[in-house]
Amino acid sequence: MQYISTRGNAPVLSFEEAMLSGLARDGGLYVPESIPQMSVADIRALHGQSYEETAFRVMRPFVGDSFSDEVFSDLITKAYAGFGHGARAPLVQLAPGHFLLELFHGPTLAFKDFAMQLIGQMFQEALSRRGERVTIVGATSGDTGSAAIEAFRGLASVDVFILYPHGRVSEVQRRQMTTPVEDNVHALALEGDFDDCQARLKDMFNHFEFRDSVRLAGVNSINWARVLAQVVYYFSAAASLGAPDRQISFTVPTGNFGDIFAGYIAKRMGLPIDRLIVATNQNDILHRCLSSGDYVTDTVTPSISPSMDIQVSSNFERVLFDAYGRDGKAVAQLMDELKSGGGFRVSQGALQALQEDFDSGRVSEEQTLAMIQHANQNMGELLCPHSAIGVDVAEKLRDHRTPMVTLATAHPAKFPDAVHQASGIRPPLPNRMADLYERSERLTQVPNDLAALETLIQERIAQ
Ligand SMILES: *Cc1c(COP(=O)(O)O)cnc(C)c1O
Repeated sequence: MQYISTRGNAPVLSFEEAMLSGLARDGGLYVPESIPQMSVADIRALHGQSYEETAFRVMRPFVGDSFSDEVFSDLITKAYAGFGHGARAPLVQLAPGHFLLELFHGPTLAFKDFAMQLIGQMFQEALSRRGERVTIVGATSGDTGSAAIEAFRGLASVDVFILYPHGRVSEVQRRQMTTPVEDNVHALALEGDFDDCQARLKDMFNHFEFRDSVRLAGVNSINWARVLAQVVYYFSAAASLGAPDRQISFTVPTGNFGDIFAGYIAKRMGLPIDRLIVATNQNDILHRCLSSGDYVTDTVTPSISPSMDIQVSSNFERVLFDAYGRDGKAVAQLMDELKSGGGFRVSQGALQALQEDFDSGRVSEEQTLAMIQHANQNMGELLCPHSAIGVDVAEKLRDHRTPMVTLATAHPAKFPDAVHQASGIRPPLPNRMADLYERSERLTQVPNDLAALETLIQERIAQ
């Protein structure tokens, strides 16, 4: 299995190489050259399997010969051993025909643990085999950073630097990044918003001299291995609700388009998914684009669902690549327009292709709070604000013939203020992290400046 860039102008890589490098050298994102298929019989055979076994069968064809069967299976087992629920991604019912996929039972209480825990295992295995060391730099709106730190803390072959927007993440998110004591963990509070963090990260990757000198590796949702790990729970959920003999729809609270893109890959692999519904907060570039074809960036307005406070949705490039018939030149041109003019217009044909798979909806702050309260009173579920946005859009857009699965992307205790404001309940942290508020914090405040960041990283890894 080989991986190609969405901009058509970077070396073709193996799974392991694509995982270790993150962003392609032409600025594009790696995607598989072709999509492996799961037959009706393959999907039926998932009924009753463990999450780990499902993960092995779904991901195996994408990994090629980067890991042997035995090693890969072992890495999957280790990745999910620290989860607080035996089903890993349990489904609960909210209403007739509407189900919630709880993706918050990992060590940092958000769905990002599904990919990050596995990536940590795969990096460690690949790097120790190669006798190499890497510097991981990630940008986060909150949850990626804590998930990455949790997955890489204490690993001998990795330094991990996380850029987060100063003052714009929740206290639990910040503490999960600033309280680990391991020397290889560096939490950097950047003076700017998430898009600034993401832009500086991209700049570092495009500065090849720096990139090569520190052996930069990326674990943001642009990393293909992360998308791949997230494909699994679409299969596990759909199989438990009757796939392949029934169509299933999914609603996904969306920011960087990584999670929902994994659902799109599941569909391309043969999973009978009817609709994929993008749910956004007031930062609604994806909703506007899927409705009108205009992808135009706006300023980011901070919200009570901070992990979705995004205006430039990195993974959208991957689906554009398909919508433009895998024409890398066309994608590169759109991305140039985005960089120079702040936006682009999707062609009529590409928009039609996108609308065949995706619907979208946008939820205001008031509606989000109202849904947290409504779900608590009428659905028996205390939702985090991101998940509430998903449930709200799903309730409005679902048809009542096809089962709807909404992805619950974080535990309510990760966003206690908003949940308390809406419901009057302050959700407690699970026992295993109950002392989070007492641990001491360690962070470095940094300017929104590429050169300063690069110097800091070089100094830290030289120590
Ligand atoms: C990251 C995150 C999202 C958005 O996921 P994308 O893959 O960026 O679309 C939604 N909710 C929570 C809680 C998150 O951490």
